[in-house]
Amino acid sequence: MNQPEDSAAARLRQLTRYHREHPVTSAEGHSYTSATRRATPTAPGLPINVRVLEHIDQTIAEVITETRSANPNPGPLPDDNADIYRWCVEATATAPEHVQQRRDTLMYRHRLEHALAAGDTTVIRRHRCPDCQAPGLFWQPAISKAMCVNRHCARRNGNGRHRTFSLARLAHEYIQAQKNVRHASAT
Ligand SMILES: [Zn+2]
Repeated sequence: MNQPEDSAAARLRQLTRYHREHPVTSAEGHSYTSATRRATPTAPGLPINVRVLEHIDQTIAEVITETRSANPNPGPLPDDNADIYRWCVEATATAPEHVQQRRDTLMYRHRLEHALAAGDTTVIRRHRCPDCQAPGLFWQPAISKAMCVNRHCARRNGNGRHRTFSLARLAHEYIQAQKNVRHASAT
């Protein structure tokens, strides 16, 4: 299986390692053990590393749901968490193109989420602003969004505020651009 090195699976492996190497020290960090799960999504930009566990659980559950909606009989789940993406790709290999594109978008978003959860914000900087195409978006952990700091872009926005983008939006833009390149080279 030739998986690109910087994939959702690779980032998940990295994140699992990160979690093991950063034991929890604060009381709040142990909140994942409480009976009630937090209502707010905790995925991106996690400041407290134990939320990583919750994040891993959530993302894996999302992959399983997505896979089963595309293929009701996807075969047994893999033992290793990081193999969930390979499992998903194999189960959806013959799915319609739009389903595969949705899957690829989800996997790309997970790659970003896993990287951010492990404290790596450079994955965001590599993106251009979807609106003005300026390079170098900045991750804003407080709002869990990427921000374009280009002033012209903010001025065009009308209210002078910097534009912000969700990870889902960045993933959508990225996968759509890849698809456009494939189509362009095929004609
Ligand atoms: Zn912009």
